[in-house]
Amino acid sequence: MVLLSPSISALKVLLNVCERYAEAHGLRYNVKKSELLVFKSGSKTYSTPPVTLNGTELEKMTKFKYLGHWVTENLSDDVDLERERRALAVRCNMLAPLVLHRCFHVSQIENVTGLTGDAKLIELGGPPYLLPLVQRDKLYDLAKLAGYLHRDPAFIAGAGAGPWPYIGVNCEGIINLTVSNGTVNQGTRITSVEPVGAAKGNSGYLTRRLPNNETRSALLGNYLLSEGKPGKVLKVVVKKRIGEANFITAIREALKNHYGDKVVGLGGTFVVRAGRVKHHVMPDFSATPICSDAEVDAWLHYFEMRAPITHVGTLVTGDHGLDLRVQHFHGWGEHGDGGHYHYDTTPDVVEYEGYFALATAVVRVDRPAHTHAVGRD
Ligand code: ZN
Repeated sequence: MVLLSPSISALKVLLNVCERYAEAHGLRYNVKKSELLVFKSGSKTYSTPPVTLNGTELEKMTKFKYLGHWVTENLSDDVDLERERRALAVRCNMLAPLVLHRCFHVSQIENVTGLTGDAKLIELGGPPYLLPLVQRDKLYDLAKLAGYLHRDPAFIAGAGAGPWPYIGVNCEGIINLTVSNGTVNQGTRITSVEPVGAAKGNSGYLTRRLPNNETRSALLGNYLLSEGKPGKVLKVVVKKRIGEANFITAIREALKNHYGDKVVGLGGTFVVRAGRVKHHVMPDFSATPICSDAEVDAWLHYFEMRAPITHVGTLVTGDHGLDLRVQHFHGWGEHGDGGHYHYDTTPDVVEYEGYFALATAVVRVDRPAHTHAVGRD
């Protein structure tokens, strides 16, 4: 109940009415929960005489909450706006994991709620195992790798070559799997050129999901390894591209400019919400050697992929002398598009939303003894 009065004496009359009514009806006001607020006119100050209820002086406040809103002595809504702002921030923070869940397409992977928890980057093999000629023995079981690294729970996500033996042909891997108490939950998609053997310009592609018992990737891969738990991540939301650099290059170069020689590694996910992106899908392995970027370009099949499309991968601002691939993201969408991300083709309307975990280390696995710089775009 609120009593509103133009003066202290009038307020005392109102309170007296209340006291008599309560007494006549066997009620009692809780004085401890009753407060007094004087609305001020401009910057004037007032000395307020004591106001009592049942003989106890009411505590004088500068603000109180009424019907969910803060009322203050100067009748400003600053406090209320601040409360709304904080409430909104809390709601947004609660929403972030949900957004992450949705845009990451991990709804089928119940045990992933985030990207963090002892986050590290893994680089497997490298382009030298693909070019100039494929080395078919280069296969890596990611679930076993998590075991070798004593990681359980483990969440592994990123860009790599799919397990070609599974479908009998080279493919892109959009890697996304968890291991929990030894049990694999596989959310990885692979995209291959379709029909197999189709010539560049006349081909399409097919995206499919790997079963839980197929946890291999081949040749090369750049993965985030974490516990898949909620935690602090870097969130990047942008609309419209004004420069040449793609989304990931822009982030990597900004970090490099700021941190210089201190190497920063991130792994995570981004969704393209609007616009289109240029992807490549690797056709089957070349029977003739591929020796230059121009030959790689002639070999790859390029497609424009549609939003919404979600990518996973890693970036790092330095090489650490480990022959690292400094950025690598693959993506897929519910509509069936999928492949290796190059850049968006619709700079005016493109919209990106990314979440990245900060890695504390990079694990280099099966580094090629003889390396080259071909095929790293
Ligand atoms: Zn790739």
